[in-house]
Amino acid sequence: MPEKISVAAARRPDTIGREILLQGWVRTRRDSKAGFSFIELNDGSSMGSIQVIAPAALENYESVVKHLTAGCSVSIDGLVKESPGAGQATEVEARAVTLHGTADPETYVLQKKRHSFEFLRTIAHLRPRTNTFGAIARVRNCVCRSIHDFFQEEGFLYIHTPIITASDCEGAGEMFQVTTLDLANPPKHDGKIDFAQDFFDRPSYLTVSGQLEGEIFACALGKIYTFGPTFRAENSNTSRHLAEFWMVEPEMAFFELADDMDLAERFLKRIFRDVLDRCPEDMQFFNERIDKTVLETLHHIVESRFVRLSYTEAVKLLEASGESFEFPVAWGNDLQAEHERWLTEKHFKCPVILFDYPRSIKPFYMKCNDDGKTVRAMDVLVPKVGEIIGGSQREERLDVLEQRMAEQGLDAANYWWYLDLRRYGTVPHAGFGLGLERAIQFITGMGNIRDVIPFPRTPGSADF
Ligand code: ATP
Ligand code: MN
Repeated sequence: MPEKISVAAARRPDTIGREILLQGWVRTRRDSKAGFSFIELNDGSSMGSIQVIAPAALENYESVVKHLTAGCSVSIDGLVKESPGAGQATEVEARAVTLHGTADPETYVLQKKRHSFEFLRTIAHLRPRTNTFGAIARVRNCVCRSIHDFFQEEGFLYIHTPIITASDCEGAGEMFQVTTLDLANPPKHDGKIDFAQDFFDRPSYLTVSGQLEGEIFACALGKIYTFGPTFRAENSNTSRHLAEFWMVEPEMAFFELADDMDLAERFLKRIFRDVLDRCPEDMQFFNERIDKTVLETLHHIVESRFVRLSYTEAVKLLEASGESFEFPVAWGNDLQAEHERWLTEKHFKCPVILFDYPRSIKPFYMKCNDDGKTVRAMDVLVPKVGEIIGGSQREERLDVLEQRMAEQGLDAANYWWYLDLRRYGTVPHAGFGLGLERAIQFITGMGNIRDVIPFPRTPGSADF
């Protein structure tokens, strides 16, 4: 019995001489006058396909092999040989070709022609078969593996925080509500919808962050991380926002802001290094076809130190830049994408970690600095994508936290458990959130975030 192996394995010279079974999809077929056909076979295990030589002597050569078209699924029994051709170490001489499914070239859209990413979004069930989307899936997988490897090796515990929550962490107005009430005829109390009759006896939502629950575990077990889907109903149709995305959120007891920034920098470098090591062929493809700078940028970042700059310093630089920005720069305003891009792309030409933001633009849980004006927040900004990590040291002082909640009009009673963490054995702690898709966008150079998640959810669009 021939051994079943992947195309990626069959492309390596150590398989020369072995009888193997390959299973996958035909990319192209061409017939030689010398009495055989070349089949390019791909099974998703690598960007590159393998060349299969199907001799005319095969019993189904005329009836099957000569009719194979792009997208047909086949099994191939054959022998791996050294390839005389340039750019490939091996090829496979077929002993038998079995057809599983045809793909009518009249209607199957994935022929030689290159399609736009916009069009491919309308066929999300077929786009994984293209080179670009295969490469994205492999890089995404590599990044997820690195995320777990990194934290596991550093002694972090993987904690699962809830997806349905009744607490509104920071997402006022941006949350998807979860309900089993009959929307056509909801129960009313005093003229308002009576959520006491809803499934959870109160309004509940899809999570916008696992941070608050993550803090519970960090304040018991030390270093933890969550990694899961996150939902934001922000109506921003940008190339960097999804309504459903994946976020990695480490949370560490006894970490201050500088420790948090150090961790974020080491974490990103580890992910980038692993992708360069483990996905060289896919990265080569992105560098040639999508963005000619991605390889150079990643290599450079892995070697260099991120710039660290306070928000106040950043505002001074922006004000002195002489650029005319669409949104005015002034101390106290949130920085816009154009400002972030100027810092990372024009001025420093590398990732920048901004810290100590004005307290008025940041959530209640961030630790207040003694200056009375800023909080210990930090954002990691990268060229082109902008913010990929947002984090902070958390306020561990009960009285300051209560005062901040009052300032922001939050009802302390709803956060009794969060305040308990400060009441009993409080510790300095910090954490951050990395948006997985923003990281993949940065690594691959893909311009639109909808193309780096298998099934994008954005305003007005949840097909497939
Ligand atoms: P932005 O200002 O870019 O909208 P944010 O400040 O609201 O982001 P955080 O709440 O700090 O984001 O979330 C942490 C990280 O999650 C961000 O740095 C980003 O990488 C990612 N992220 C946030 N919102 C989205 C979104 N809608 N789609 C994809 N990723 C997101
Ligand atoms: Mn942020």
